[in-house]
Amino acid sequence: MSIRKLISTIKKFHPEADTSMVELAYDFAKTAHAGQKRATGNEYINHSLATAQILAELKLSPTIIIAGLLHDVPEDTEYTLEDVKKNFGAEVASIVKGITKLSNIKYRGMDRYVENLRKMFVAMAEDIRVIIVKFADRLHNLNTLYALPANKQKRIAMESLEIYVPIANRLGIGELQSRLEDNAFKYAYPDEFMWVEQLIKKQVPIKTKTLNQMKTKLSNELKKESINFEEIYGRNKHYYSLFRKLLRFNRDISKIYDIVAIRVIVKNIADCYAVLGVVHNLWKPVKGRIKDYIAQPKPNGYQSLHTTVFGDNKEIVEFQIRTKKMHEQAEFGIAAHWEYKEGKNGPEKIKKEVAWVQDLAKWLKEVRDNESFLEGAKIDVFQNRIFVFTPQGEVIDLPDGATPVDFAYHIHTDLGNKCERAYINDQQISLDTRLKNGDVVQIVTAKKRKGPNPEWLKFVKTRTARQHIMNFRNKSWRNIISKFSKK
Ligand code: MN
Repeated sequence: MSIRKLISTIKKFHPEADTSMVELAYDFAKTAHAGQKRATGNEYINHSLATAQILAELKLSPTIIIAGLLHDVPEDTEYTLEDVKKNFGAEVASIVKGITKLSNIKYRGMDRYVENLRKMFVAMAEDIRVIIVKFADRLHNLNTLYALPANKQKRIAMESLEIYVPIANRLGIGELQSRLEDNAFKYAYPDEFMWVEQLIKKQVPIKTKTLNQMKTKLSNELKKESINFEEIYGRNKHYYSLFRKLLRFNRDISKIYDIVAIRVIVKNIADCYAVLGVVHNLWKPVKGRIKDYIAQPKPNGYQSLHTTVFGDNKEIVEFQIRTKKMHEQAEFGIAAHWEYKEGKNGPEKIKKEVAWVQDLAKWLKEVRDNESFLEGAKIDVFQNRIFVFTPQGEVIDLPDGATPVDFAYHIHTDLGNKCERAYINDQQISLDTRLKNGDVVQIVTAKKRKGPNPEWLKFVKTRTARQHIMNFRNKSWRNIISKFSKK
């Protein structure tokens, strides 16, 4: 780790960048943190530098890297945010301010959890770059967790898995997500980590031989067919994602086909499908395992073609085929977008793209003072979420298990209250049907309808829907009671 390495990483991705400010920021941070040591015994500046290095490897630009170098200055040194602003400008200062705000968590236990979460969302809604620096900061903290006492290790690791990882996932930053996961996994679930580590160490060498053989076969065939490709390589599944999958398959490793996979990177979408054709010609596809995430991207924007085949040496092997652009999206997600647009439309545009973040932030602001919501907050935010569409193509973000009634209330109270029938993809369905990702949902209202059916309480999933239905029911009761008492 050194400033020279940092500069050369920046230059690699941004040959035209002026890095003199980065060097100044390094000197500034070094002076500010002089004499401070981390729990590992290393100079504090190493942490600042490591954070900045992670950001540089995500191909981010100097502004955010400077913020990374300075992120602990106002919090931990005698230099203030004003000093940062004077020396490095308002934009850098505003990111650093956001990070400083995130580090003041007052509470313990469940309250701490919700406060943490709320602050993350608020920061994100204000400037997504704050969160990205925070991720880099957290990742280096996880890398040096060995130096902390066991109880702290566990807390920081769990917090990373429960708060940071889902957010990284939703922002589509696969690269950060898997690194955060694997580094936290070790401390959050040590026994399970060891088990998965052993499985991988046993499986990978067996599979690698087959994989190399298949890679060569495919690349020869693609050349023969004159299909261009950029790269073919094997990728190992990350520990934590394998662990989660194992839990879904009764811990049976033989059911998991993508411990290793072959990834093919091509120039354009047509080539993706052409490669898929060649793969299926060489090896018989496993039924029901072809996934077209190009035509139907995952909610976080992930695109690729996946297929699993009966490969050589009786091994079952997964292929992932994507363009270079899709690959960048998968690794860098929102960070790739943001980078791309910086200086053109600026962060404004990004804000719009993460409208769901702002919705959540708003909602968390509303509930922050209400104790009884705390338990619910955890459930609601971390249930898996689904994305459905209005007939006009607007994306609506709902918790998994949500019904058309939840959808209606999400759009407008009146639409919920007067909801009569619902259609999914033009098929009429009952109001308690569970929505699935990608459904187009249409609600038909009845003008004469007085209000929601209390029976809906049996199946609605969102707090908004539940609250509105209960309010309405309580109001009707009050009306009945008041009529009754007048008699
Ligand atoms: Mn830090």
